[in-house]
Amino acid sequence: MKKLLKYLLLVSVVMLGCACVNAKSKPIKALIVSGQNNHNWQVSHKVLQLILNQSGLFEADIVLTAPARGDMSSFKPDFAAYDVVVLDYNGDRWPAETDQAFLDYVQGGGGVVVYHAADNAFSGWEEFNKIIALGGWEGRNEKSGPYYYLKDGVPVLDNSAGPGGSHGAQREYPMHCRDKKHPIVKGLPDNWIHAKDEMYDRMRGPANIKDLLYTGFADKQTGGSGREEPLVFTVDYGKARIFHIMLGHAGPTAENNPAMQCAGFQTLLLRGAEWAATGKVKQPVPKDFPTDKSPSYRYNYAPAK
Ligand code: ZN
Repeated sequence: MKKLLKYLLLVSVVMLGCACVNAKSKPIKALIVSGQNNHNWQVSHKVLQLILNQSGLFEADIVLTAPARGDMSSFKPDFAAYDVVVLDYNGDRWPAETDQAFLDYVQGGGGVVVYHAADNAFSGWEEFNKIIALGGWEGRNEKSGPYYYLKDGVPVLDNSAGPGGSHGAQREYPMHCRDKKHPIVKGLPDNWIHAKDEMYDRMRGPANIKDLLYTGFADKQTGGSGREEPLVFTVDYGKARIFHIMLGHAGPTAENNPAMQCAGFQTLLLRGAEWAATGKVKQPVPKDFPTDKSPSYRYNYAPAK
């Protein structure tokens, strides 16, 4: 009897061990939604998948919509099968059934990453605008909500009339940390140089930002708003975990794609996606993170060794 007990104990310890190992190594399931965009989505969605998969943390699938003005009726992704949905989509409305499935997923506590021009999408979809908090272009104006920016380090909600969404010339620019404690940015430098990219400015919307993580100064000399603009933040939307990153304008090819080849962009994407999926960030701060002196590139999108 004692032997049997010992054996059972051993078996359960081994099984427990396996369960722990499995829990650790089980990849986070991500779904990248793409297929239409005013950007080079043919490059961006594949690069997003590469960044996620090469990290070893994620198993990223891709779902593409029909092309513009195409038949969207068969676009019915199984959002609920994923830990995080990465939006790389700016195009025609989805079928009503798919809209509802997406809302059910998000409102049920789903994880979402809003990447770059995904915040241009669906200007007329009220609930989507609450999911992104701030958006631009596509007819957005004072009816979409206030402008949101920082003045002397304090958030301003500005209801003045005008279009939502613009950007100056592409350039390298410093990123300014606004929250040292949030798991997505904890341990990252307060200031670092982002590789050449657009800086979205004058974005508007319900502005239901939860945690403002990084801002940048949209210099008027390069065609910007002259304001300290929100660029990376989380969104206050019920139980959902939503990470919005305005960085990452796609280049002409995966090889010539500086904004996405930035180690800072890739780090934030990975940490934001992990947080959106799990509520935690276990990734260490990489050694090749940009500094306040210079940008840092991962040309092949592989994580730092
Ligand atoms: Zn862009």
